[in-house]
Amino acid sequence: MTVTPEQLRALATRAEALTAEVWALCGGTPGDPAAPDPLVDARQAAGWLARAAEDLQRSAAELARLQVQPCGLPWAVCPEHGNTLTSRAGVSECRVCHRTWSYDRPGRPCPEPATWKVIDRAGTVTRMCDGHVLGARAAAQDATFVRIDEVAGQSQ
Ligand SMILES: [Zn+2]
Ligand SMILES: [Zn+2]
Repeated sequence: MTVTPEQLRALATRAEALTAEVWALCGGTPGDPAAPDPLVDARQAAGWLARAAEDLQRSAAELARLQVQPCGLPWAVCPEHGNTLTSRAGVSECRVCHRTWSYDRPGRPCPEPATWKVIDRAGTVTRMCDGHVLGARAAAQDATFVRIDEVAGQSQ
């Protein structure tokens, strides 16, 4: 079974809910500070639960970060301007920003992070980067463009 950020976040949400429940039940200050407090451990447990929720969220974020996949379309583009590269003698240059790459960039698979899901009219989903989505927007009028929440790792 593969762990997803969503599953970890769901656990974190439950830990947060438990924390709130314990506080609702056992919170508040004891009436007499000198009297023995039978709920001291329960309140401490709430603290651990809150801490566990944070750790689970952190783990979810880390997992989401590692799961960002490369765009992988068979030709690379300018990350900012899309299909604007020209290659000459093994050097590629963007016609717009004049950024250069010391290799034939359009001849290689796109290494940029996939930040968009493009769903065409037939329902086919293609993941692509910011640069590639520019060209897709121009070409595919009927497609749906969904931004992948790369920070939260949702819609992966
Ligand atoms: Zn550019
Ligand atoms: Zn790309």
